[in-house]
Amino acid sequence: MARHTKKEKHAICFEIQDAMKRTGCPICSILRDLEEDTIKYMLYSQVNDPAVRRKLRQSLGLCPYHAWLLADIVRGNPEIDLLGPSIIYEDMLRTYLEEGKNSNGECFLCAKTREFERIYIEEMASCIEIDPTMLDEYSRSRSILCRRHYEMLLNCLDGVLRAKLEEIQRGKLERIIHNLSEYIRKQDYRVKEPPTYDEARAWLDAITFLKGERISTNIYSREEARVKHKRRRRLFSF
Ligand SMILES: [Zn+2]
Ligand SMILES: [Zn+2]
Repeated sequence: MARHTKKEKHAICFEIQDAMKRTGCPICSILRDLEEDTIKYMLYSQVNDPAVRRKLRQSLGLCPYHAWLLADIVRGNPEIDLLGPSIIYEDMLRTYLEEGKNSNGECFLCAKTREFERIYIEEMASCIEIDPTMLDEYSRSRSILCRRHYEMLLNCLDGVLRAKLEEIQRGKLERIIHNLSEYIRKQDYRVKEPPTYDEARAWLDAITFLKGERISTNIYSREEARVKHKRRRRLFSF
């Protein structure tokens, strides 16, 4: 199933292994960095790039999620000049006045994140096929693949590796449930033992698994896109 023909680990494998050393979903965290880096790069050096501006106009300045991420990045990084977002959004408002409803296309950053999501999942499957010990590493790590990325990765694996990933993921979920129960149990005043770090953050691990991290592919899941599409069709059916 792997797209890689070369039987050697490549840079992406090491990037994924690095992400597995952190808490949260390794694929989500790589994609979150990608979204933030793309916005920062755009603000640092592409404000007046005509090709980027054309892409921005298509969605009138990104989707709501990415536009607010841009705002958070500008507010959180004092070294980013306010001139950049002012130039971009002045142009977006002018575009709206001139073209109105015609500028309601897809956010290019959403499309880019979806594309990279597919690439990283396929590459992760390929890395596991080249070096199956990566699954043991995942098993031992504090990271947890979110449901979306777990299911996508499972679809790229066959046989033994697929079964092994299923077993590891089940073990991780049972561990989170155990940590949650322990945290709850230790709130009883008769229990003197304090909760551990993993027990105190188990609720975050549960959210990470069930909903994924705060990235566009989780916020705008395919399900939502399908509902939106249906609703739009209904709106225009009379
Ligand atoms: Zn994820
Ligand atoms: Zn977007």
